[in-house]
Amino acid sequence: MLTVFGTVALDTTRTPFHTVERTLGGTATFASIAASYYVPTSIVGIVGNDFPTSYLEILKNRLDVRGLSSSKTEKTFHYDSSFGYDLYKRTTNKTELNVIANYQSTVPNEFVDSEYIYLANNDPVQNLNLLDQFSHPKLVICDTMDFWILNKRDEVMKMINKVDGIILNESEAKLLFKENSILKCARLLISNGPSFALINKGENGSLLFYENEFYPIPGYPTEIIKDPTGAGDSFGGAFMGHLCTQQQINSKSLKNAMIHGNIMGSFAIEDYGIQRLVNIDAKDIKLRHEKYKEILSL
Ligand code: AMP
Repeated sequence: MLTVFGTVALDTTRTPFHTVERTLGGTATFASIAASYYVPTSIVGIVGNDFPTSYLEILKNRLDVRGLSSSKTEKTFHYDSSFGYDLYKRTTNKTELNVIANYQSTVPNEFVDSEYIYLANNDPVQNLNLLDQFSHPKLVICDTMDFWILNKRDEVMKMINKVDGIILNESEAKLLFKENSILKCARLLISNGPSFALINKGENGSLLFYENEFYPIPGYPTEIIKDPTGAGDSFGGAFMGHLCTQQQINSKSLKNAMIHGNIMGSFAIEDYGIQRLVNIDAKDIKLRHEKYKEILSL
């Protein structure tokens, strides 16, 4: 089983075309839903007393939610952000940690033997505490973002040292090392512990660094872009989910997982919040996968 840990959020997302308020979001939400198309997935996290039952039902439909706790006294993590006409560069308006601020994560007994763990973007101290609770993790991948790099860089570096793989977007990787070359950033990530690093460049695709080789992959071309929120998490969840189905970690399985990451990222941006992600099926993924392979062949 795959266990995903991260934020379950209420997101307010503003674009020049539309605003959605307090819609279901969060890094664990996107990552676990994307992963669930590949492998049975459990989610660990916390929500507050304002979390709608209808959102819980959406999560229950696809995930094992026994690790999702609910606070009676505090509110759900809330993230408010805006995009300009390019629908690429995000401005954070507000990050209200609320219930996650002092959260002591506990992995339910049923999941302590999970072999696959995805630490979605979240407080790195909480990610490390959670990781300690698993009895024999086989593959651990993490993600992080500017908020934690700026506020808890040392802890982010400690977390990177404990994982097998890391996924970052381009600006976060550059911010982490104060470097302008993503190739250098990828080398620096590997020199700190993980065996592979993946750097996402939005619609320009992604770059894998593994065993001293760089593997760039273009993004899946999609004409519909409504809301880029969650694209990175959906990429990460699908990447992890696909790797869970493979016998070995090698350049081939990592590249195939990247393709699936890009496919699920491309679905995520086609509607607001998780709306598109929960309205696809295996056939939609297969069709996009075939098209993508055709595009990639020389
Ligand atoms: P991304 O895939 O990078 O677009 O991630 C978007 C999600 O990250 C949103 O659904 C937010 O709720 C969540 N988020 C935003 N800021 C943070 C943070 N500081 N820690 C954890 N999750 C966050």
